[in-house]
Amino acid sequence: PGGVVPSAAPASEHLFARAERVTPGGVNSPVRAFRAVGGVPRFMVSGKGAYLTDADGRTYVDLVGSWGPMILGHAHPDVVAALQRAAASGTSFGTPTPGEVELAEALVNRVAPLEQVRLVNSGTEATMSAVRLARGFTGRTKVVKFAGCYHGHVDALLAAAGSGIVTLGLPDTPGVTGAATADTIVLPYNDLALVESVFAEQGGEIAAVITEAAAANMGVVPPLPGFNAGLRRLCDQHGALFILDEVMTGFRVSRAGWWGIEGVAEGWAPDLFTFGKVMGGGLPAAAFGGRADVMARLAPAGPVYQAGTLSGNPLAVAAGLATLNACTDEVYAAVDARAGDVAGIVSTALTEAGVAHLPASAGSLFSFFFTDAAAVVDYAGAVAQESVRYAAFFHSMLDAGVYLPPSAFEAWFVSAAHDDEAVERIAAAAPAAARAAAAV
Ligand code: PMP
Repeated sequence: PGGVVPSAAPASEHLFARAERVTPGGVNSPVRAFRAVGGVPRFMVSGKGAYLTDADGRTYVDLVGSWGPMILGHAHPDVVAALQRAAASGTSFGTPTPGEVELAEALVNRVAPLEQVRLVNSGTEATMSAVRLARGFTGRTKVVKFAGCYHGHVDALLAAAGSGIVTLGLPDTPGVTGAATADTIVLPYNDLALVESVFAEQGGEIAAVITEAAAANMGVVPPLPGFNAGLRRLCDQHGALFILDEVMTGFRVSRAGWWGIEGVAEGWAPDLFTFGKVMGGGLPAAAFGGRADVMARLAPAGPVYQAGTLSGNPLAVAAGLATLNACTDEVYAAVDARAGDVAGIVSTALTEAGVAHLPASAGSLFSFFFTDAAAVVDYAGAVAQESVRYAAFFHSMLDAGVYLPPSAFEAWFVSAAHDDEAVERIAAAAPAAARAAAAV
């Protein structure tokens, strides 16, 4: 798109050709394929701190951070040491292990309303299981979700989902039956009045409302003041459960996630949370949890079934624990400051190049909408942007050694390892990239 000429990356090109023969689209998760920005995806071979190195030996400042987990940067020594220790003791036992208890305690200790958790392997499993549990607990069928919020590739939640669905322009996905989404009510994000009217009509059938704690899969769209609190109130009034999806925000935007910022300030809490990304430290670990009386309905304590061969895997748990333990107040302060620096640098460059844009942020999550709109509060606003300008911006940054999300609809991530040198490289690259965006 956008007449972009990708720079040469022969080793990645060769690997991609091999990958396309044995894997659909050459990737194991759609947005990695560069479909939205054009060109050949870079095959990364190593990471250290704020940097990634590709198969051609080029280094990039990484602003993707594995889509969220790498809050400490790549190959953090504590995480590597914890993994080496764990691996030397065996990789999976299919029994309870001490590490699982420690990780569960670490989560519960950080997020006050979280009384019990169940560990799973991906954010998708976490949201899928939370919805099942909410239905089992309430004996109701319907689930409210918001357009542009992505909760993983759960059949019932793949309706008006963001992330790769919007990147690839898939209106819906074949393979998800009407029956699977028949009980899913999709509403525009940030429109509390509409949620209220749906509850007035169907409140007795609604098992749960699920929302991203702060939406970040249609670009970053923070909740308007009172939106999350209003969802909490409506759920209380109608006996539905409130599920806060903190897969992206959890243990990243603060020690206690988005709840730790907004929920604490406003005095509300969800019934259930979902977590992933940071809590797994770059390995497959995720969790759902919340009120003990709700979690008590989960097998084997209760009748709602949920399980996993590798759930609570010793390596994943070790990486997660090492990551959470290293997430000091200084780390959060550094991540917040770096996010502000990078967002400011990019916004200034775009302004100087005359590119209409709207910086968006929620805590340390940020992205840019290429639009002259004064605000973006929902999915319709998010998709109205000129994402073709982003493609030009992306490739110019890539050529200059800065790896951005290969889609205009994803959040940018910084880590505590993003030092002055990394920020300077971004600052050096941004003006030309902004001019490339202007020239589209
Ligand atoms: N919920 C949110 C808010 C997410 O951002 C994501 C992934 N980006 C998921 C759920 C799904 O997580 P996973 O990719 O680990 O299945």
